Amino acid sequence: MINSQCEMKNNLYSLTIKKASDKLASGEITSVELTEAVFERIDHVESKVGAYITLCKEKALEMARESDKQYAISHKRRSKIDGIPIAVKDLFLTKGVKTTAASNILNDFIPIHESTSTKNLWKAGAVLIGKTNLDQFAMGSSTETSAYKTSKEFDSTTRNPWDLDRVPGGSSGGSAAAVAADECIAAIGTDTGGSIRQPASLCSITGLKPTYGRVSRFGVMAMASSLDQVGPMTKTVEDAAILLKYLSGWDKYDSTSSKKDVPDYAELINKDIKGSKIGVPKEFFGEGLDSKVNEIIQEGINQLKSLGVEIIDISLPITKYALAVYYILMPAEVSSNLARFDGIRYGHSRIKNKAMPTGRQELRIKNLEEVYCKSRAEGFGAEAKRRIMLGSYVLSAGYYDAYYKKAQKVRTLVKKEFDEVFSKVDLIVTPVTPTPAFKFGEKVSDPLSMYLSDIMTVPVNPAGLPAISIPAGFAESEGKKLPVGLQLIGPMWGEQTILNVGCAFQSVTEHHLAKPNL
Ligand code: GLN
Repeated sequence: MINSQCEMKNNLYSLTIKKASDKLASGEITSVELTEAVFERIDHVESKVGAYITLCKEKALEMARESDKQYAISHKRRSKIDGIPIAVKDLFLTKGVKTTAASNILNDFIPIHESTSTKNLWKAGAVLIGKTNLDQFAMGSSTETSAYKTSKEFDSTTRNPWDLDRVPGGSSGGSAAAVAADECIAAIGTDTGGSIRQPASLCSITGLKPTYGRVSRFGVMAMASSLDQVGPMTKTVEDAAILLKYLSGWDKYDSTSSKKDVPDYAELINKDIKGSKIGVPKEFFGEGLDSKVNEIIQEGINQLKSLGVEIIDISLPITKYALAVYYILMPAEVSSNLARFDGIRYGHSRIKNKAMPTGRQELRIKNLEEVYCKSRAEGFGAEAKRRIMLGSYVLSAGYYDAYYKKAQKVRTLVKKEFDEVFSKVDLIVTPVTPTPAFKFGEKVSDPLSMYLSDIMTVPVNPAGLPAISIPAGFAESEGKKLPVGLQLIGPMWGEQTILNVGCAFQSVTEHHLAKPNL
């Protein structure tokens, strides 16, 4: 009895939010026990996975104790995430906890305020486990553009828990790997062109990019402000529904956040999806799609049919331009957003690091321009620089009309095309990525092939639509199981429909229950 109880307590890290929250609410476990179990798990597997840039054990235990204290007073949990350990992408400002955006330019940055979305989580009683690795400033699809390695033994960045020789995807690769490896109960990430869904797909977890405006972007380091959105990365669709509620809502600090009511998504889940219409766009199943990925998605579509869904062939011819549009608009916004890192106010600075600490060193920098140039040249990685240059170019006087303005027009067409299709279908189903996880170094020197791995996730961002990646099966390679995700795209504010169908799918499939061998 003691043994089995002990075993049960040790395995707490593998719980979903739903299960952990039921146990916390009934008093079967405490938040401190749950948090300790997660840190034990981290001790066991983090040296292989490398999901985190910063771990906050003391703070986490303090938050867990506070959660338990509140429970002792009122005999109830304040919310479904009260006492639940959550990992946060290191792009969210966390007050008093180092926040790097995985860039050297912010390697000593400790924020003085908290992002709205994380503040909402802590208000509901959630526990911050640590800050996860990502592609530098969220730019990338493999977490390889991160400036950080999580331990000395690490010869590369965060690894895919299903095959340690492969990337976890990106840019929220650390969050996805942490969830897949049970190094947290759930995580949050950001999605500008696929950064929640693509790593979710490659690591076999659930990742939801909400409608633009659903979650406040305040305090999340901006990559491309008209595309960025915060979302949950979880072990199940039900957990994504739970977490989404606490993340969402209007925020006076983000004028693009919506005043629309936040429903209790998890309570409203309706798995009876009979009669729903789901469109299959032929353009997402063409050249370049791995045959095994195609097979798995077709099986997924058949599962949906067996749930009574009507599958309808559709066409989205304009979406083929979405990637080109994205790689004009996104760098334009990046170049403007990253201008604030000037080497003066915060983060890595040529002046601060070399001259100010002692006050005695000779100030060799001649003028302001040199401060900017030197700080930025040292602080930013190659991918950030590439995008700053691309962005400055498309915004420059001679090229603005030819590139930026034209891309904005095509963006409107992409959105219109989706709107038209959603007058006929409730959701759209597609693969998330053309291939399963690739190996380290395979695409890093060829930016174009890296960019192409986002071809199926990018189109929803310029249109502002919500979309989810859910585990759909595994491709085999060299004796390893490589996860494949299925994408469901919804109309604006169609989160509930996505969650209903996703939940129904997970009630008849078991892919999301499989665990990597670590
Ligand atoms: N991988 C895409 C890019 O490199 C998307 C990034 C993101 O969604 N943050 O831009």
